Amino acid sequence: MKSTNTAEKMESCLALRPEAGALNAMHFDNRFVRDLPADPSTENVPRQVQRACYSRVLPTPVTAPKRVAYSPEVAELLGLSEETCRSETFAEVFTGNRLLPDMAPYATCYGGHQFGRWAGQLGDGRAINLGEVVNDRGDRWTLQLKGAGPTPYRRMADGLAVLRSSVREFLASEAMFHLGVPTTRALSLTLTGEKVMRDMFYDGHPAWEQGAVVCRVAPSFTRFGHFQMVAARKEMDVLKRLAEYTLRTDFPHLGEPSPEAYRRWFVEVCRKTADMIAHWMRVGFVHGVMNTDNMSILGLTIDYGPYGWLDDFDPGWTPNTTDAHSRRYTFGNQPAIAQWNLLQLAAAVYPLIGEQEPIQEALDGYQQRFTEVWRNMRAEKLGLAAFEPADEDLYQKLTSLLTAVETDMTIFFRRLADVSPGDTPPEDRSDDDLMRPIRDAYYRPEQLTPSFCRRTADWLRRYLQRLEKDGRQEPARRRRMNRANPKYILRNYMAQEAIEKAEQGDFSRIHELLDLLRRPYDEQPERAHFAAKRPDWARDYPGASMLSCSS
Ligand code: AMP
Ligand code: MG
Repeated sequence: MKSTNTAEKMESCLALRPEAGALNAMHFDNRFVRDLPADPSTENVPRQVQRACYSRVLPTPVTAPKRVAYSPEVAELLGLSEETCRSETFAEVFTGNRLLPDMAPYATCYGGHQFGRWAGQLGDGRAINLGEVVNDRGDRWTLQLKGAGPTPYRRMADGLAVLRSSVREFLASEAMFHLGVPTTRALSLTLTGEKVMRDMFYDGHPAWEQGAVVCRVAPSFTRFGHFQMVAARKEMDVLKRLAEYTLRTDFPHLGEPSPEAYRRWFVEVCRKTADMIAHWMRVGFVHGVMNTDNMSILGLTIDYGPYGWLDDFDPGWTPNTTDAHSRRYTFGNQPAIAQWNLLQLAAAVYPLIGEQEPIQEALDGYQQRFTEVWRNMRAEKLGLAAFEPADEDLYQKLTSLLTAVETDMTIFFRRLADVSPGDTPPEDRSDDDLMRPIRDAYYRPEQLTPSFCRRTADWLRRYLQRLEKDGRQEPARRRRMNRANPKYILRNYMAQEAIEKAEQGDFSRIHELLDLLRRPYDEQPERAHFAAKRPDWARDYPGASMLSCSS
């Protein structure tokens, strides 16, 4: 055999080593497919998949892959350079047209409770995982294409996604991240060049729409429903393997699998879920479809469908027309629904823990954790040093004012920071003077009757007295409040405007919103028009106020 010296060897290694920032520089370590049981069939036909966590399936090739947008922050997490993200190969890879050598595409099997009822097997009907990237910090990121073609879990559907819903998912994922809310991320939004038929309002008016793919990115896409599915089928060995895998991969700090480690795990899932929900309540986010298959084991916001941010503060609001009748997933119901979902997960993982009591304790722990975190967040929203027992009444009085007349939640809390103590004692200040900073938050001037203004001003006086008691320094209070109360959120009408432009081939608004929503707590005065109230035309506008699950 021909021998080569070290220098020559080095040279050939360098020649082979992919350039930093390139697609083939991503290091894949596909643990999910390696460690968990696979469906023995690789046929891509709808079926029940027993005794397996996933099925191998390839994305469907498309005719004209085209990049619409990408998130530079997510690219950075994956070690991808700007040049790479702007390349044609990038669009090819992230529509599923081209696979990198170490990718191992698969769709996973899960079930779930939809709108309170057990729905049996659901699974990744149109999501295809490409594999797990380990970046140079050692962080693990699963790449998942949504809308890249049918899988064995598609049931009757087509496995595709349209531009409209993909723009919404792409922008919301990144907006939520920058708001500080735990969430899955989005690397890219691409067009496939294919047409997709959708009946947007399920009213018998189907139309062709443009097909699109979002590449979602998360440490793991494991859902409550993954555990529920194997438990419902009484596949105890598969349940054990999935739990061991999850513990070792997603919760390595909890130690080796044991009933005690699973107990700590369930406690942590409850805690992470509570934190996520408290953040939703803080920023006025309504998920819209909190089915158990849409709940992440890592407490990440997942599956952005008919979601919305509150415009006017209304705890009874849901953006999802599919839920308009039963109103299960309204803003105000979210904390209770999350606990109900955790109860379903508890039933599935009970065999791993083997005792009722610690599970009940963890579920109670959810409530305690939510209460505690929500108190702290409300203290931040109001600019208080801490949330004291008497502040509960202060807050309740505030919510009854916010619901008495149509009040924009985001603008109200942001402007509350501008209601400052000043030199005149609050009791000597006029109603008008006190309300000046928050006037912009109201949708209907005719609702601002003298009696409503009097009640509001009285509340503001009480609030200012409360601040005085705190003895907080002014600029610090304002700064603290402006870190908890965003100036910019992705209002449904804003997403809708970006969609309508994108459907005409103009992606500029998507780029503008992506950039705006990177700094939701900053003033950004040149973009203040995006902080305005929902315009009147959007009140009952399809896509802006009414959304269905059709996507
Ligand atoms: P969702 O309401 O988006 O959470 O979806 C519920 C279930 O339906 C999941 O199993 C999805 O994978 C599946 N699903 C939704 N839309 C499609 C589609 N167009 N093609 C295949 N499966 C879909
Ligand atoms: Mg889903």
